[in-house]
This record gives sequence, structure tokens and C-alpha cells, in this order.
Amino acid sequence: MRQVVVWAERRDGRITDVSLETLQKATRLAKALNGSVAAILIGDTCRTSAEELIHYGADRVWLIEDHRLDLYQSDLYAKIVTDIIAEAKPEIVLMGGTSIGMDLAPRVAAKLKTGLTAHCIDLYIENIDGRDQLIPVVPGWGGQLMVKITCPDHRPQMATVRPGVMDRGRVDTSRSGEIIPVAPTIRESDFRAKTLEMVKEEEKETLLEDAQIIVSGGFGLYGSGGFEPVERLASALHGEVAGTRPAFDQGWIPESRMIGQSGRTVRPGLFVSVGASGAMHYTTGFLKAKVIVAIDKNPIAPIFDIADFGIAEDLSRIIPCLIEQLENH
Ligand SMILES: Cc1cc2nc3c(=O)[nH]c(=O)nc-3n(C[C@H](O)[C@H](O)[C@H](O)COP(=O)(O)OP(=O)(O)OC[C@H]3O[C@@H](n4cnc5c(N)ncnc54)[C@H](O)[C@@H]3O)c2cc1C
Repeated sequence: MRQVVVWAERRDGRITDVSLETLQKATRLAKALNGSVAAILIGDTCRTSAEELIHYGADRVWLIEDHRLDLYQSDLYAKIVTDIIAEAKPEIVLMGGTSIGMDLAPRVAAKLKTGLTAHCIDLYIENIDGRDQLIPVVPGWGGQLMVKITCPDHRPQMATVRPGVMDRGRVDTSRSGEIIPVAPTIRESDFRAKTLEMVKEEEKETLLEDAQIIVSGGFGLYGSGGFEPVERLASALHGEVAGTRPAFDQGWIPESRMIGQSGRTVRPGLFVSVGASGAMHYTTGFLKAKVIVAIDKNPIAPIFDIADFGIAEDLSRIIPCLIEQLENH
């Protein structure tokens, strides 16, 4: 039976959201292949997490429990995951595109001598020349095109999934599956480098992911001398400030406020985009906002293709009017 395998990342004792999102996508791919879903879980006493993976759609979980592997260990994780995959010979291997996933996936792909598509925003199966192929989709070529990438000649087909763009499946506690303990031989000399501790960066500001209203600015603010109009509009709307990559490059926003493929993915109730053309690298980060309002002086800017409401006007004219209206009501 054809298998889709997900490496399930565990942090602070729980499965990461992106692993559950990836698992949900894996169940759909497995259905299209008439196959099954397996997960690989590595950590210290994490059987409950293995059961959770089954409740979220895994048919079997390879469980590696060892206190030395509670924190991510680059070389060892790569070896363990590669050994399991080499034996199981799945069709597809997926991982969440976190900092750890982005370290692990290329190591495993290189060991297996197969291809890897990174930071996918969609994945589906297409029959090409009589063979079922995984089609990972990523924004490419300056964000103007959605690019489909195939790996026709090597197996498994591997991809990392961008966090926050796919839905999590529903939990079904009545589901049952197989938990297969795996006990690899680990010698001290196998740790060429050792992760001793994970230190979390202190988060002082409101997480963009939690914000209900976001005003995001782009390079179009250059003519206005910077980000002040965006900050004023965000303040009038009681929202958070964000921006595009050029806004970050200009030093107007910190990297933690950059929206898009290499930045944050957000789902606010209201997303206002100001002076940003609408490259897919950027729009990927907020496609799931409930209402999108775009302000750009170019009436044919691609941002208007995805906006619910568009204002084709110079921002220096429209923003003061909006602020005035908001402050008077
Ligand atoms: C691998 C890769 C990853 C990337 N990741 C990201 C990412 O995560 N996030 C991201 O944002 N980008 C990313 N990019 C860059 C992305 O492709 C675009 O180049 C970028 O989003 C464009 O930013 P912008 O819209 O601010 O600038 P521009 O494309 O220059 O758009 C500026 C807009 O402002 C408008 N404008 C100018 N003056 C005014 C005015 N006075 N009033 C109103 N409108 C005005 C213009 O009409 C124009 O539409 C990535 C690129 C690559 C190759």
C-alpha cells in the first residue's frame, strides 16, 4: 500500500500546529493514492502525542522515545528519519516548514538522494503519463506565478509545508491506529553536535497571528517618506502594523512584522494593504483574512485581484480622509 509519511515535530511537549496541518493534507493525498498515512514521532515519553496523531488521521506512528532525543538533534534525527523512510519506501514524505523542519528535510532528502520542494502552499496529486505524481505548489518568479514542481524520477517525493496556510483536520478520538516503537542504537559518538537547550526569544509585542485588524504597508510608502501613514491608520483602526519585504528592507518594520512567504501568515478579520503591488510572495501571507481592503494608486495592480474592497488612489490623499472618518465616528 502506498504511504504518505509525515514527520511530526514536537515542541514543549506538544505536536506543533504545522505538523497537524501537514497531517491533514497527508490524509487527503493518501486518499487520492488509495494509500495510508504514517507519522514519525521522536521525543521523550511521548506516547500520548502518538495517540493524538492517530486521532488527527495517522494510520500508524513510528515512535522513537529516548530522553536524549527530547530536543532536536540534527544528525541523529536525520539518521533516524532516513532509516525509517529507507525501509518503509513511502511515496511521499512531508514536514512542516519550521526552522527545524527546514534543517531536517534537506538532510533527509540528500541522504535519500531525492528531490525536495520547500515552503509549499498547496499539495495535490495529478496523474501524469499514467503515474500519480505529487504536485507541490510554491509562489515563484518574483511572486508573479504559482509554480508546480514535480519529482518524477525519484522516490519518495518530499516537501515542506508553509505553517499556517493549510487547515488542521478535526480530531476524532474514536480513531485507532498502530503505534510501532522503534529503538535505534544511539552511541554518544553519534552526536557530532549536541543541542543542549532551546532558548525562546522573548515576545514583547502582540503576535501578528493573533491580531484581528492589520494595516500592512509596501514600497508605495516611499514617496510619503516612510511608514507614518500606515501607523496612523493602524492606530485609528486599533490594529497592528505590518508590511511587505521592501518595507522591511527599508527598515520601516522589524522582520517579525513582514507578511508573506518568507514572513508571517495571518488570518485577521480585516487586512488593509497600502501601497503594495500584490506579489504572490506577499499575498500568500494573508489570503485567509476575512476582509481584504487594498489601497494602491495603480488601478491594475494585482493586489486588486484578491481584495474584497479596492481603492485605486494615491495613499497621501485617501489615508487622511479615512483617518478623519474613523476618528469622527
Ligand atoms: C523567494 C522570495 C520570497 C519573497 N518573500 C516575500 C515575502 O515574504 N513578503 C513580501 O512582501 N515579499 C516577498 N518577496 C518579494 C515579492 O516578490 C515582491 O517583490 C514584494 O512583495 C513587493 O513589495 P511591494 O508591494 O511593497 O513593492 P512594489 O511591488 O514596488 O509595489 C509598490 C506599490 O505601491 C504603489 N504605490 C506607489 N506609490 C503610491 C502612492 N503614493 N499611493 C498608493 N500606491 C502607491 C505602486 O503602484 C505599487 O503597486 C519575496 C521574493 C522572493 C524572490
